[in-house]
Amino acid sequence: MNQNLTEKLTKSDFLLFCEAPRHLWAKKNLKIDLTLTDFDQHLIAEGYEVEKLAQEYFANEILPQKPGCQMKLQQTFTDGPFQARVDILLDNPETSTYEIYEVKSSTNLDKKDLYDVAYQFLILQNQVKIEKAVIVHPNKEYIRDGELDLAQLFIVDDLTEKVHELLPEIDALRHEALSVFDCKDPFELAQCLTPRDCPCPDICHPQLPEFSIFDVPRLSPKKKAELLDMGIRDAREIPVTFSLNDKQLLIVERARTHSEYLDQYSLQIELNQLQFPLWFLDYETCISAIPRFQGYHPQQQIVFQYSLHRLDNPKAELHHFGCIALTDGDPSLYLLEKLAADLGRTGTVIVWNKSFEMTMNKEMAKLYPEYGNFLLDLNSRIYDLGEIVNQGIYLHPQFKGSWSIKHVLPVMVPELSYEEMAINKGDKASMAWWNMTFGEVAQEEKTRLLEALDKYCELDTLAMVEIYRKFAAMV
Ligand code: SF4
Repeated sequence: MNQNLTEKLTKSDFLLFCEAPRHLWAKKNLKIDLTLTDFDQHLIAEGYEVEKLAQEYFANEILPQKPGCQMKLQQTFTDGPFQARVDILLDNPETSTYEIYEVKSSTNLDKKDLYDVAYQFLILQNQVKIEKAVIVHPNKEYIRDGELDLAQLFIVDDLTEKVHELLPEIDALRHEALSVFDCKDPFELAQCLTPRDCPCPDICHPQLPEFSIFDVPRLSPKKKAELLDMGIRDAREIPVTFSLNDKQLLIVERARTHSEYLDQYSLQIELNQLQFPLWFLDYETCISAIPRFQGYHPQQQIVFQYSLHRLDNPKAELHHFGCIALTDGDPSLYLLEKLAADLGRTGTVIVWNKSFEMTMNKEMAKLYPEYGNFLLDLNSRIYDLGEIVNQGIYLHPQFKGSWSIKHVLPVMVPELSYEEMAINKGDKASMAWWNMTFGEVAQEEKTRLLEALDKYCELDTLAMVEIYRKFAAMV
């Protein structure tokens, strides 16, 4: 192996390899865009904040239970070409043993977290005796009541047994990851079958057809591999005999025929369910790993804005209501007061992807039981307009298998667009509110941000109004 002996495979390299081998290759060959958005930076800053709190928790709650032990922070260890930094290491000089504590911001642990700790374990066990491998992370059951209670905020998951079982697999994987350093051709590395939002698409799928097999929703990896083996990447070339479910067939048919599909009967049934006045509702939210306000749990979305359009009858004038809450405390209380005043008690409430708005309403009902009946009633009146596309009642070839409003709107209502807007994505909206609430923003900038937020959220509900009108004109 020609691997440069000074180059180390860090823990983040290893995890990048586990995500997709070609991502590690692209990083080493400077072919991946690792630019961080403001929202990525916000998540990293929150991660540091969680780590600081976890260290405090550790010093106050765990260390006193381990007399004679010392806490060591951010120590780096190497084992030949492998390297890892340990968040918190507990050193027991009496027994000459150590415990690894990895800090995470998420409330749910996944396979990547296990791999992360197992990678550290492998490196350290070559040099010292490790007794325990543990993840410290926020407890999703914790509800903030007054000041943050670190003893309740954090939970400790002992993964020692699981890590031991994983070691042979991680050992093999880390050597595979290391071989990427010497790899000249990324095509020698395992193929990834999910080229959506790719960080380096030109490496894996250069000149992907406009409507590719990867756009067919829920196509299994096995079927994708079968098609690739047949030399097929364009959805239009999928043979008619190839086994697909009904919805996939409808979508592939759009690619082949480049024609729309409308199930007029089902569309009529859907639209018949709607009762005027129609209310078109959309929330903007920002997630926080640490509960910022009373009653919140870790990783809870904070609802800070809504846009609401009211249509009394098909020909009536459209009315708009909106609210951005910039308050000292929880914005959702102020928002609920306004929403309860703006939203009438009759008529269908139209959203796009109802699980999100309904979950936000349930969360706010827990925070403010005095609005419980209002929010319960609101949820019972919700209709998800996106389902007309998601269920395949109306499909357009240019949706390319997606039912996201960001893909549907430019096709159905091209005159409305997010493109030129100062804030044109949910995570940018989140950051604008976060910075105005927790950061230092000059008055002039604040005025600009408020205007941009207003326009962005209003477009989300106006988009639904116009898409609804297009559907209504089809029956
Ligand atoms: S297809 Fe996309 S996501 Fe998959 S490895 Fe290649 S660049 Fe990454």
